[in-house]
Amino acid sequence: MIIAVDGPVAAGKGTLARRLAAALNFAYLDTGSIYRAVAAKMLAAGDDPENHDAAIAAAVALTPADLERGDLRREAVGQAASRVAANQAVREALLAFQHRFAAEPPAGPEGPRDGAVLDGRDIGTVVCPDADMKFFLTASMEARAQRRHKELLERGEKSIYARVLQDLRERDARDSGRATAPLKAAADALRLDTSEMDADQAFAAAMAEIEKRLKLPGPAT
Ligand code: C5P
Repeated sequence: MIIAVDGPVAAGKGTLARRLAAALNFAYLDTGSIYRAVAAKMLAAGDDPENHDAAIAAAVALTPADLERGDLRREAVGQAASRVAANQAVREALLAFQHRFAAEPPAGPEGPRDGAVLDGRDIGTVVCPDADMKFFLTASMEARAQRRHKELLERGEKSIYARVLQDLRERDARDSGRATAPLKAAADALRLDTSEMDADQAFAAAMAEIEKRLKLPGPAT
């Protein structure tokens, strides 16, 4: 069973996808970290993220260990990732990794998994168009910028709200406007606006839909 969670930066995808995976005993893949890892490797090597050949070489050489790099969450890496992600050959090179994960979710500490949750921008449209359940998360620009700003401050990074807002606008425009696999909701995705929801409410809303759609047994009474 595969669950796709797509949406723009800071709409709450990661938090929701991680919680769904834990509740359902599914494996979780943050596909943004794949693009971030390629970008981080390029920045570390002094390459321009828009250098076509260097981007492909970095994508082809990607290993699971690269997804554990400590610098992946940095804002500069996120911006570079969205530039790398506009490269169609890079996206194709990274598809096999994602397909393998969805088809054969890696076992967890407690044994085999019952499925996979993948979050990103094009999971429901390109990577797993046949996913059993697709969510498309949205939230107002202000709610997303506030969340990202708070998250950066909590991590001890410097953050200026106006700058965060500007970065989100740029990243949204690049992710939605690119020719290959742009950020967009699949026709059969369930839209969830999280502007007024906290993480618990978003999780409860998504679980209710999963139980309804997949006819999972509810909690024992
Ligand atoms: O989700 P996150 O912010 O970590 O993703 C970083 C960048 O990677 C995004 O801005 C987007 O350009 C790219 N990305 C993508 N397709 C995905 C996941 C992420 O293009 N499935």
